[in-house]
Amino acid sequence: MSYIDEVLQEVVQQNPNQPEFHQAVKEVLESLRPVVEKDENTYRQAAILERLTMPDRIISFRVAWMDDNGKVQLNNGYRVQYNNALGPYKGGLRFHPSVNLSVMKFLGFEQIFKNSLTGQPIGGAKGGSDFDPKGKSDREVMAFCQSYMTELSKHIGADRDVPAGDIGVGAREIGYLFGQYKRLSGVYEGVITGKGLSYGGSLVRKEATGYGLVYLTEEMLRSNGMDIAGKTVAVSGSGNVAIYAIEKAWQLGAKPITCSDSSGWIYDPEGIDVELLKQVKEVNRARLTAYAEARPSAQYRPGRGVWSVKCDIALPCATQNELKLTDAQALVGHGCIAVAEGANMPTTMEATTYLQQSGVLFCPGKAANAGGVATSVLEMGQNSQRTSWTFEKVDRKLHDIMVNIFHQAEEAAREYGVPGDYVAGANIAGFKRVAEAMLAQGIY
Ligand code: NDP
Repeated sequence: MSYIDEVLQEVVQQNPNQPEFHQAVKEVLESLRPVVEKDENTYRQAAILERLTMPDRIISFRVAWMDDNGKVQLNNGYRVQYNNALGPYKGGLRFHPSVNLSVMKFLGFEQIFKNSLTGQPIGGAKGGSDFDPKGKSDREVMAFCQSYMTELSKHIGADRDVPAGDIGVGAREIGYLFGQYKRLSGVYEGVITGKGLSYGGSLVRKEATGYGLVYLTEEMLRSNGMDIAGKTVAVSGSGNVAIYAIEKAWQLGAKPITCSDSSGWIYDPEGIDVELLKQVKEVNRARLTAYAEARPSAQYRPGRGVWSVKCDIALPCATQNELKLTDAQALVGHGCIAVAEGANMPTTMEATTYLQQSGVLFCPGKAANAGGVATSVLEMGQNSQRTSWTFEKVDRKLHDIMVNIFHQAEEAAREYGVPGDYVAGANIAGFKRVAEAMLAQGIY
């Protein structure tokens, strides 16, 4: 049996009931075949794939907090410190009821390759909780964040592990988490990114994942002789990534026509009004029905359906496995030319294969949504230097990083005989840098 098949089998056997984790590992290892088979003995002797798929450490803890009725509530808290061959652990925190160890491990594993692709000195990690901030008062969210950080603070630090936001962890949660860390440690350091501008945050961090996604999409189209201007774009989600992808799509001359949340979705043939969307989601924390009520051209439909709309480009920006085979078939049927993942693993494996085989340009999240973490590293740099850069400077750096990530994936795919397969290219380029560092650093 080949080394890759052996490791795949072991991962499934040793981590039962973790389907998201299995899916992420399978996708990466399958595409590493041409690299690993070239030098199988070296990788096997050093157990590189076993070490890459097993986290350095999993921290799992109880989070107790008091609700507004004086009742004590409990949640599960996690931090998976996956691999620090390239630098301090880095990856977001997700607060959502769907969080479990399988989701944490899939996200942490993906993060290793994403962070490697940025070319910056950061390892991979992920954390979070099954706590749901939706419908909680600010005081309840603060109580939860303080309790979560009380445990997490023992394991993080500016040179050790630097968390950031993700689903359910935005500006409010980051502020409470940072405040509690500072209180416990007595140190004012860049221990978390995505901070507010008044206390060490970076300009463009809030916009970075969405903007970066669209910069990369523009480059992918350009490299294939097309232009993003004039294209219609279907976007799912209406959170941080989706909002700023919509904003940047407008800025580059495209027309975003959909967005969604977990209750329903909007089709707006006039194009999504991004200022209204920000007001509804970022300020009022309301549902998309409020957007439809305020916008005569918008049609609101409950449930799923974003991918049934005719579009040139699809940007899934909500959550994992939200774009399924039937959705991919609908997109191809309507003449969609490109899909780039703003969310992590939003496209199922069957849908990915179908899109690629149908000639749709497809860029995986670990390349397409790396702008968030890349800008987090720019925030860390500014914190260390006690300085802050202009919006234009950070935005230019973000743009260059995204263009570079695309070309790394494109080049690796070409070098290993699968031109145009950006999934394989991203995995190969990300893997090579980490594997080289692990081999150089001995057994650990
Ligand atoms: P937000 O919490 O800001 O927004 C998430 C959006 O997705 C909301 O519209 C939410 O709807 C929707 N959503 C979440 N879960 C589900 C679900 N199970 N079914 C349907 N809709 C759902 O998160 P972000 O925008 O930050 O993150 C979105 C994706 O992007 C995630 O996969 C995340 O890992 C990834 N990502 C984020 C980065 C960042 O910098 N923020 C960086 C890289 C990747 P509702 O409000 O109804 O729950």
